[in-house]
Amino acid sequence: MVTAIYPGSFDPITLGHLDLIERGNRLFDRLIVCVANNPAKSHLFSLEQRMSLIEDAVSCYPNVEVQAFDALLVKSAKDMDASVILRGLRAVSDFDYEFQMAHMNHQLSPEIETVFMMTGEKYFYLSSALVREVASLGGNIESFVPSHVATALNERLAKK
Ligand code: ADP
Repeated sequence: MVTAIYPGSFDPITLGHLDLIERGNRLFDRLIVCVANNPAKSHLFSLEQRMSLIEDAVSCYPNVEVQAFDALLVKSAKDMDASVILRGLRAVSDFDYEFQMAHMNHQLSPEIETVFMMTGEKYFYLSSALVREVASLGGNIESFVPSHVATALNERLAKK
């Protein structure tokens, strides 16, 4: 039984994240989407909102769970009985950071393997930051995020 964690800030979840979750769900017995709880970072959505938007988006996958994490990633992985950290690679620009993180995590916990998946070609340009920016400038984001996320994002921005 292989459990993988898929960590990120998911502020908010996009179709790019969901593409990875759908494919990860086919590879691993259990996939835990781990939402970073980092009070030092400013997020548009609270931890609870980010988790709830993901829960609504993954409810069709029985083996996918959503949890928060605020400890060292490899420690969180062990606490959740996970042996794999799943990460997505969009473009060369992701590579440096991901390369460093994977090696650091390997040094800290060699028994935990980082597995990378290339982004689906439809989503290689997609990031939560870009979706937030487009939405804040009044652009249509419906082809980038699930519809409940688009609604939540537009409502959240209207309140700002
Ligand atoms: P973002 O960079 O969009 O804020 P996160 O920090 O939430 O994303 O990213 C969590 C993980 O999801 C990272 O491994 C990131 O590379 C991956 N990811 C984000 N967007 C995509 C995408 N469009 N396609 C594939 N992987 C993605």
